[in-house]
Amino acid sequence: MVERQLRGRGIRDEAVLAAMAAVPRELFVPSDLSRHAYGDEALPIEVGQAISQPYIVAQMTEMLEPRPGMRVLEVGTGSGYQAAVLAAIGCRVITIERHAELAATAVARLAQLDLLDLVRVEVGDGSLGRPDEAPFEAIVVTAAAPAVPVALREQLAEGGRLVVPVGTPELQEMVLVVRHGADFEESPAGACVFVPLVGAGGFGDGQVRRRPFFGRLRL
Ligand code: SAM
Repeated sequence: MVERQLRGRGIRDEAVLAAMAAVPRELFVPSDLSRHAYGDEALPIEVGQAISQPYIVAQMTEMLEPRPGMRVLEVGTGSGYQAAVLAAIGCRVITIERHAELAATAVARLAQLDLLDLVRVEVGDGSLGRPDEAPFEAIVVTAAAPAVPVALREQLAEGGRLVVPVGTPELQEMVLVVRHGADFEESPAGACVFVPLVGAGGFGDGQVRRRPFFGRLRL
């Protein structure tokens, strides 16, 4: 997975590559899918959600320019895998998940890997972030937003980096936002498909039509 799917496709950050080599991905997928854990694909997890394709996790993590001790907010805990990768690099992570069942499973997995000193899993609507815990040096949203969530942008530290898929529920562009004082520099980083960010800073709380998978589109 690391050599072919990540390094082979241009992931260069050795800390990201080492973390993804170290975190046992099979722990984060349902047991009947463990033989697919290192495949080049997103996989379904509990509550109709999904764990991202390994390349997408690597790309988003690399875009954050993670380093040990960095304070990171993740919106969309899902399986807990992205949080585990960040923690394996040494980041201090707050991760928010709207489904309590997913949050509980993620906590159990992170405990098994002894990563709970670095990761705090919370249940709730993460679309507005955690203003009381801001600023964050990095924020990663692992669900699709209709626009760059302003509330999250405002919670970045100076020079902080926000990575978020932005677009319609059907198709998004990965966007990197870097804070320079009151300015926010945005750069696009390719097409992708994620499950929708529900909640006040996302597509709202109504029913959003969902696609059955997410990950990088093979365009
Ligand atoms: N990062 C995850 C991983 O490593 O497995 C994958 C996340 S999955 C693609 C997207 C997650 O975002 C889902 O678990 C979904 O329940 C969650 N989500 C969607 N809207 C949310 C919100 N407003 N607050 C918190 N979690 C949300």
